[in-house]
Amino acid sequence: MSDDTHFGYRQVPLDEKQALVDDVFHKVARRYDLMNDLMSGGLHRAWKDALVTAINPPPKGRPGRLDEKSERAFALLDVAGGTGDISFRTIAAGGAGTRATVADINAEMLAVGRERAYGQALDDVVTFVDANAESLPFADKSFDAVSIAFGIRNVPRIDVALAEMHRVLRIGGRFLCLEFSNVDVPGLDALYELYSFNVVPALGRVVAGDAEPYRYLVESIRRFPRPNAFAAMMRAAGFARVSHRVLSGGIVALHSGWRL
Ligand code: SAM
Repeated sequence: MSDDTHFGYRQVPLDEKQALVDDVFHKVARRYDLMNDLMSGGLHRAWKDALVTAINPPPKGRPGRLDEKSERAFALLDVAGGTGDISFRTIAAGGAGTRATVADINAEMLAVGRERAYGQALDDVVTFVDANAESLPFADKSFDAVSIAFGIRNVPRIDVALAEMHRVLRIGGRFLCLEFSNVDVPGLDALYELYSFNVVPALGRVVAGDAEPYRYLVESIRRFPRPNAFAAMMRAAGFARVSHRVLSGGIVALHSGWRL
């Protein structure tokens, strides 16, 4: 029983969860970006902006003051980066030395991301790597910042993934995790519940042709540890100065930790 975990509200053997998760993202990949906008009413853009602000890539030099080559190099690893949103936003916010690597286990999500990179002529600064968060194919201390947005709750062994993200972060680098959280505002909680379990799967059925993957997404949000419990997992993985702040009444939490 100790080797069981959950897939949404279902109890499943730990070794079977990843395949079930992969099937979800295989099904939603082509509609993923559109569905994000529809399900969150565009709010995911503000949440991602908050994450990118915290990633804090070195800013662009002021025209006439710094040439492109003198801008500081900065390497972001975005784990479970899917179609590349966080990486594209970080590149847009950062100076010419900013580079991003998207690591994701799902070839279909990565394919959509690569197409976006080519479409925006960003394929030289955003790299897509097929990788499992539990076993990252990167050297120790090789990134200035590591992020994971709406990804960690899908990973079967969260403790293993946290340790891996800590390992590849340089000393003095920051880890940031954006994840759905718990709405505790009276009134908003009931509304959010109603919306999540009714509107989201219905949108999935109408727009993406299948309600089931979206039911999993909602259920997995409810099963994710509360912010304080997740903070304890981050500390156990080695992160220091662990903190979090909630956004939009607790719909989302932005967790932060440092490698010191
Ligand atoms: N970070 C992106 C964003 O915010 O738009 C995508 C988030 S999407 C909800 C979750 C992503 O986690 C999917 O692309 C999925 O393939 C990926 N994922 C699930 N399990 C993973 C694992 N073990 N290792 C790496 N990526 C994983």
